[in-house]
Amino acid sequence: MKSTEQALDLSTRIVHHDYEPPQGFKAPQPGVFKASTVIFPSVAAMRTREWKDKSGYTYGLHGTPTTFILEERLCALEGGLQCVLVPSGLAAIGNVSLALLKSGDEVLVPDNAYGPNKSMSESTLAQFGIRTVLYDALDPADLAARITPATRLVWLEAPGSVTLEFPDLPALVRICRERGVTTALDNTWGAGLAFAPFDLSGDGSLGVDVSIHALTKYPSGGGDVLMGSVITRDPVLHMKIKLLHMHLGLGVGANDAEAVLRALPSIGLRYRAHDQAARSLALWMGQQAPVVQVLHPALPGSPGHAHWSALCGPANAGQGAAAGLFSIVIDPRHTQAQVDAFCDGLRLFKIGYSWGGPMSLVVPYDLRGMRSRPAPHLRPGTVVRFSIGLEAVQDLQSDLFQAMRQAFLLE
Ligand SMILES: *Cc1c(COP(=O)(O)O)cnc(C)c1O
Repeated sequence: MKSTEQALDLSTRIVHHDYEPPQGFKAPQPGVFKASTVIFPSVAAMRTREWKDKSGYTYGLHGTPTTFILEERLCALEGGLQCVLVPSGLAAIGNVSLALLKSGDEVLVPDNAYGPNKSMSESTLAQFGIRTVLYDALDPADLAARITPATRLVWLEAPGSVTLEFPDLPALVRICRERGVTTALDNTWGAGLAFAPFDLSGDGSLGVDVSIHALTKYPSGGGDVLMGSVITRDPVLHMKIKLLHMHLGLGVGANDAEAVLRALPSIGLRYRAHDQAARSLALWMGQQAPVVQVLHPALPGSPGHAHWSALCGPANAGQGAAAGLFSIVIDPRHTQAQVDAFCDGLRLFKIGYSWGGPMSLVVPYDLRGMRSRPAPHLRPGTVVRFSIGLEAVQDLQSDLFQAMRQAFLLE
């Protein structure tokens, strides 16, 4: 790339990249290189070549031209300097926790974190003598009070999983910085597009230490790949993560890497389309009789809306940016059976986990058992989460309407 690199918009930088095609084959798209074995020209070369950096290739597990390019593009997307790729978003979380924590340490996890992060921390990490402490992400004072001399890692998520409360992320990161505690953000929702995880203040003075991303969601965009990334800007931190990555053998397949590479140039367009459709449907759902609360950080009144506005809001980019997710709370006078019938009655929305693909999805959640303490900002009722795909908004709205009418016996 030429020296104008930094002046270019992100959407340009993830299209134009450092890829050097093989001699005489000047196609702009990266090749799919598959290998376990990489052949060395001599024993001497074998002994000197280093797997820990990108100065050479040693073994398929430690990187190929295809995975190196994907790592570099993801660094451009999130504003990081080093990246490792792992076989899922959850593996990215595990890679970070296991690399940075040891027996006797404490890890702080938001009470509204992605569920499998909480359960891995409370079971697998506990087996290694690592203590998990849950904190209220909406209350920076609660985080501050729970940091002890044994705290080594604080997980962050913006917004929280399912209930989508947006925390005061800069305040949480500042508290950890002051105490010298490493921060790791699950940046799957923001995707490198809603805000810059390594530059939360806009002047480069405040950022998280580690950003993990479930590439399964928007970077893949197709609902057909499981992959995760761990991005850093600190070479020491990166090397700890890279060592564990090597010890556990967490490689990714070249075809999957290629699928993400192919989808990445359109991530900004797709993200905006999911965002616009989700906001319009969330607003409309808020006016429907069975719905007592809509949880979407870009909607005024939603928990943490002011923090979303400050970090991802209109000051940054027109309407601001948000992912294509929202949840609703259904009036508790409706039974669980009616809520289930509503989900079952949807025709275009399919029942299934994950998000970021072209097809809209729905999942009803039972928050009991998912939160360790009461959440007074949530209205009583049943939570249903929607992931908005790329279908026409009018079709999705009609689908929601017909299913509500049936299930909740509306006139
Ligand atoms: C989906 C998701 C993950 C896990 O990603 P997988 O690739 O499905 O393992 C982690 N964090 C968040 C916030 C997610 O939505």
